[in-house]
Amino acid sequence: MNNFSNWLRQFSARLSYGYRRFMEGRYGTDRFNMAILTTGLVACLLSMFFPIAAVKLLLTTVSYALMFWAIFRSLSRNTYKRYQENRKFLQVFDRVKDREHRYFDCPKCRQMVRVPRGKGKISITCPRCREKFVRNT
Ligand SMILES: [Zn+2]
Repeated sequence: MNNFSNWLRQFSARLSYGYRRFMEGRYGTDRFNMAILTTGLVACLLSMFFPIAAVKLLLTTVSYALMFWAIFRSLSRNTYKRYQENRKFLQVFDRVKDREHRYFDCPKCRQMVRVPRGKGKISITCPRCREKFVRNT
């Protein structure tokens, strides 16, 4: 028994070492990946309950595609690109979550400008290029 637990400990140590070596230089997971996986899981669950075969097939395909995408991202060695994707996702996510502000892109320099919501029509001055534009908040 003692032998076996020893063997088990060594085995799991070797396994985690192998995993760490395998993941070296790879991107791993982030919040964007978690969102992709969750969406894939939801699509998978929905596909089980949908009575229409065509919709079922579509949802299953989508869920597989999403899960493969998440795996691809976590194993990717192009960490810079994956990091940028996550950043963009978080930006959009924060925008959607933010109920107190509205976000506009400056028509001249594309700088993102955040203004309080519900103030009616206001004139916005871009903090970067000083361009003035009117938007309905
Ligand atoms: Zn601007």
